[in-house]
Amino acid sequence: MKLICIGRNYTDHIKELENERPTDPVVFLKPDTAILLKKQPFFIPDFSDDVHHEVEILVKIKKVGKHIDKKFAKNYYDEIGLGIDFTARDLQAQLKAKGLPWEKAKGFDGAAVIGDWLPKSEFTDMNKIDFSLERNGTIVQQGNTSLMLWKIDEIIEYVSKYFTLKIGDIIFTGTPSGVGKVNINDSLTGFIENKQMFSIRVK
Ligand code: ZN
Repeated sequence: MKLICIGRNYTDHIKELENERPTDPVVFLKPDTAILLKKQPFFIPDFSDDVHHEVEILVKIKKVGKHIDKKFAKNYYDEIGLGIDFTARDLQAQLKAKGLPWEKAKGFDGAAVIGDWLPKSEFTDMNKIDFSLERNGTIVQQGNTSLMLWKIDEIIEYVSKYFTLKIGDIIFTGTPSGVGKVNINDSLTGFIENKQMFSIRVK
């Protein structure tokens, strides 16, 4: 299975910024070895002094598909979740400056937190879902899927032009504002609406 991630999918401002929507989403992959095992702490890797949390809505693909039209995208997933796209920001900045791929900064072991899953039938509108991240009990990130530049169905359409989607693939749909550095002993807890989706410790 693969983890497909969307970058820069939210702006600080709301809908009027649709005008400034870039022509294409930013897409990158994480290997399956990036998945943080359940109930394990996240260990800050020794090659970074600036690992950031990015809380993101996740979509679990349930059917093989290629060139999926957005109007059929809803048939390709039944569950959504919440996770963290951990990012070694210092390393990413160095790689970006050289025009190199980001994988080392995004795809290292443990860099993908995948929380619990909720059936999409629990939601009346996939494009109006609140989510948040608490760090040590304080909300640091808050988002709503209505603020995505590319909505879930558009993401599925876009990424399936390039990659065949397979059962079990997971899409990280991008992070809202409020990303920040994690420190040893932090606890990070993610919520979709009022439901706790994950809680992890940083070591
Ligand atoms: Zn991200």
